[in-house]
Amino acid sequence: MSDRYATFANSAPGRAVVKRLGLPAPPRLRRYKAGEKLGPVLLDAAPGGRLREPVSEILKGVEEQAEKYSALIFDATGISDSTGLHTLYDFFHPHARSLHASGRVIVLGTPPEACETPREATAQRAIEGLTRSIGKEFGRGTTAQLVYVTPGAENAIESTVRFLLSGKSAYVSGQVIRIGPAAAVNPPADWDRPLDGKVALVTGAARGIGAAIARVLARDGAHVVALDVPAAGDALAAVANDIRGTSYQLDLTAEGAPDRLADHIGGRHGRIDIVVHNAGITRDKTIGRMDADRWDSVLDVNLSSQERINDVLLERSLIPDGGRLIGVASIAGIAGNRGQTNYATSKAGVIGLVQSMAPVLAERGITINAVAPGFIETRMTAKLPVMIREAGRRMNSMSQGGLPVDVAETIAWFASPASGGITGNVVRVCGQSLLGA
Ligand code: NAD
Repeated sequence: MSDRYATFANSAPGRAVVKRLGLPAPPRLRRYKAGEKLGPVLLDAAPGGRLREPVSEILKGVEEQAEKYSALIFDATGISDSTGLHTLYDFFHPHARSLHASGRVIVLGTPPEACETPREATAQRAIEGLTRSIGKEFGRGTTAQLVYVTPGAENAIESTVRFLLSGKSAYVSGQVIRIGPAAAVNPPADWDRPLDGKVALVTGAARGIGAAIARVLARDGAHVVALDVPAAGDALAAVANDIRGTSYQLDLTAEGAPDRLADHIGGRHGRIDIVVHNAGITRDKTIGRMDADRWDSVLDVNLSSQERINDVLLERSLIPDGGRLIGVASIAGIAGNRGQTNYATSKAGVIGLVQSMAPVLAERGITINAVAPGFIETRMTAKLPVMIREAGRRMNSMSQGGLPVDVAETIAWFASPASGGITGNVVRVCGQSLLGA
């Protein structure tokens, strides 16, 4: 969908008008292109930090000294009480204006629940206020995240650092990401094709975000089984052909659907390494006016069918060690939304599914995570009334909607074999939306 205001605001006459009237100025975001090169990165650490070394290993060959940087990274794991937070001021104060447009800020910390003393936990928790504020303050497409790394997981951070520095995370900001020790850390032989040899299932792949997920996973090397309802068969086949994947027509809510899907996967591929539950529907009405069918259909497509499919795929051992389950929630599931009690319940349920299944699946070396998209430019959001659509687009740190590819790139990061330490996370792809913050 086209954002005509953003196009205008980025034109020469538009820039002048926007500035004079103090209107939101959506920056052009730096998005991933094959062969993208990383500019200079400034890395520093509080005394006693344990992540400086592993991060400099990852940054080998990247320039360290410059007037302007593409990223500022601070290892805050050495901060053990609130007085130590001053080191954050010392690092960011002099460099607040030294980032290029679409710059990256990453602060690495210790999860408060893994800290040794209440004082350390307090200080580590405090860092979230800094990163979320920087995301709102720096502007010009800068993203800022806090990455909590559990002691012992220092070797599991590479896929995350690479993702956050790249154009792949253009619309992810103000997030708190948790990395724990990985059952296995498998750096891919080729970081441009981390999913080589993997088989991925993407539901709702005929259009919108699902089609983008299928394309990005295929770009990263996976064979994609693209699934959608029979009525979307032509569009589905077009996506599958385009990415040399296969299509599978199935209504996920039909009687016996999980077993039919498992038969198909088992017969064709013998296993499924990555399952992306993207299919979703809305049937909006305030709860007093909502008929039971609207409630039931949304809960069934968006939540219950995922549970049934996961159960059957797991029972039949079709998801191997190192498998990846990925859900698509929504910021509506975090903030709630008028007219969407059914949808928000289903999406909050997806978050519950991730959090409750993560420890159970960890025993089998399988991770489960979800993205929670904010306002993404798709047919779903194009149908919104104009005022609600404009509010959704502008009420975030990027002053614009995200693109389906932004959601897809985040899912590909979860899917990477090098992301074994990431489980139980819900990462918003919302440009740091004010909703549900
Ligand atoms: P979309 O309506 O364009 O695509 C959804 C796809 O799911 C369609 O192709 C549809 O046919 C398929 N689907 C629906 N019911 C199905 C069923 N029973 N069996 C198989 N396939 C089925 O939606 P989208 O905007 O691309 O959204 C994709 C996901 O992202 C959804 O889960 C949605 O809730 C979520 N999301 C979207 C936004 C946004 O801004 N667009 C924001 C937050 C979350």
